[in-house]
Amino acid sequence: MEKEKFMQEAINQALKGMNSNEGGPFGCVIVKDGKIIGRGNNKVTSSNDPTAHAEVTAIRDACKNLNSFQLDGCEIYTSCEPCPMCLGAIYWSRPDKVYYGSTQQDAANIGFDDEFIYKEIPLPYDKRSIPFEQLGHKIALIPFKKWSEKEDKKEY
Ligand SMILES: [Zn+2]
Repeated sequence: MEKEKFMQEAINQALKGMNSNEGGPFGCVIVKDGKIIGRGNNKVTSSNDPTAHAEVTAIRDACKNLNSFQLDGCEIYTSCEPCPMCLGAIYWSRPDKVYYGSTQQDAANIGFDDEFIYKEIPLPYDKRSIPFEQLGHKIALIPFKKWSEKEDKKEY
């Protein structure tokens, strides 16, 4: 079946990336109108980029190829259930659907545990493992005010 074929491609990306020591065992492809328009694999360790997860690299590739900042009419095939960062990136890029292969639990079993991030999200800021503190609220609102008034902005 077509869907299984695309998932196999995502898994191939994972294998290719880990075999060439680009990063962890995660791959992703993005499909539009039955064609792969973006590919990605984890490149965290080779690019010194903690955000270079498979889904993020695939979204960047697909958006570049589409010349668009969103993935209208696209489906994401990712070899593993997305982490919270990629989940956010997926929502921002607005694809139609996500297919995932292995689960967060499968990833946790081999040492890729992102459950702690999900646990941090609902915590009050003073209870998080990385402290958050508000600073400069008044000056930080200036860009927002200017954006509200900007005539030639590109909304998204
Ligand atoms: Zn991720």
